[in-house]
Amino acid sequence: MDLIASVEEKLAQLSAQSLTRRRRVADTRCAPLQVVDGRPMLAFCSNDYLGLAAHPRVVEALREGAQLYGVGSGASHLISGHSRAHCLLEERLAHMLSPWLKSPQALYFSTGYMANVAVLTTLGMDSGAMIFSEELNHASLIDGARLARAGVSVFPHGDVAALTSQLEASTAATKIVVTDSVFSMDGDMAPLPQLLAVCERHGAWLVVDDAHGFGVLGENGSGALEHFALSSPNLVYVGTLSKAAGVSGAFVAAHHSVVELMVQRARPYIYSTAAPPALAHALLTSLDIIAGDEGKALRAHLASLIAQLDTELRLARWRRPVSHTAIQPVIIGSNDEALQAASDLHARGIWVPGIRPPTVAPGTARLRVTLSAAHTHEEVAQLTAALNDLERT
Ligand SMILES: *Cc1c(COP(=O)(O)O)cnc(C)c1O
Repeated sequence: MDLIASVEEKLAQLSAQSLTRRRRVADTRCAPLQVVDGRPMLAFCSNDYLGLAAHPRVVEALREGAQLYGVGSGASHLISGHSRAHCLLEERLAHMLSPWLKSPQALYFSTGYMANVAVLTTLGMDSGAMIFSEELNHASLIDGARLARAGVSVFPHGDVAALTSQLEASTAATKIVVTDSVFSMDGDMAPLPQLLAVCERHGAWLVVDDAHGFGVLGENGSGALEHFALSSPNLVYVGTLSKAAGVSGAFVAAHHSVVELMVQRARPYIYSTAAPPALAHALLTSLDIIAGDEGKALRAHLASLIAQLDTELRLARWRRPVSHTAIQPVIIGSNDEALQAASDLHARGIWVPGIRPPTVAPGTARLRVTLSAAHTHEEVAQLTAALNDLERT
């Protein structure tokens, strides 16, 4: 068989299992009302939970950042790409997280994927270390654990008792527990207070990936640690700046020595060009909004939309796991049926992504509805009416 034919056979196998994915082309900005492949759509897809991705003040800040700093950073952070904008952003993020971490410093990464790989490969750089990874963790944490020299042990979803037994049985010199705070395909939250207590008892790190919590959770939008009022030197915090913060990139906040070790050793940090400084500059405005009165109002509106969805959806066959966050999955089961539901919604002008394995477990293909403070109550009513109707037909 020739090379191309062997690739095409792999594609045919995916197609036979209804696992082929395709990209839709958004012609307009990230917002509830978009033009997609030339057609107006009402979208419930993005992780832009506060509607900052197209916020006029953030857009203006990016323009200003480009004027101040140009477009590209020119090099990696350790060569010459580390700009004043990156530095100011890191100081601001460390300050935001300072009530919950001991002597914190923050480190800005181009993506959350890179931040997670950097944290796990740095903390888990010795073969005598062990990473205890929650079953439903994001792919970037799974890949980070694979790249680390440490061993990996997976604990069942939300199962603090199982984790405790694994930690008790472990003789590893360094123990690293890692979990999403809000699970990206289910919308439920990790029992962080219990996990932290167990980690402190066993002298383990607790790495929290707060991709879906930063900006949304907590009175001031500082995320999951603020939400649960958790504070510990054992915590290593990862927040993304591409979701609620509406821009791009991510950060790690931890004790300054942990961050210093990452600057010295983390390959995703060292061997990649620094993100454009203008992005960091725009993020300063995002953080102003998140931490200010507008952020509070946006979070309150988002909470009211989540409550509305909860009251209005009346599903009998399809399953809705308990979620109090902006991630509201509707579990359908088979890949075909989930795709059909997504395509029926699409025909009605509503865009909700169908999520299939390997992103979720086989047999749990689903619609992943995400709400944003940019949505109106009328738009959510349109979605719930369509879903209620589709499930019955
Ligand atoms: C999106 C996401 C990431 C990756 O962040 P990017 O900035 O998109 O690379 C990491 N962890 C979780 C849980 C996520 O949802």
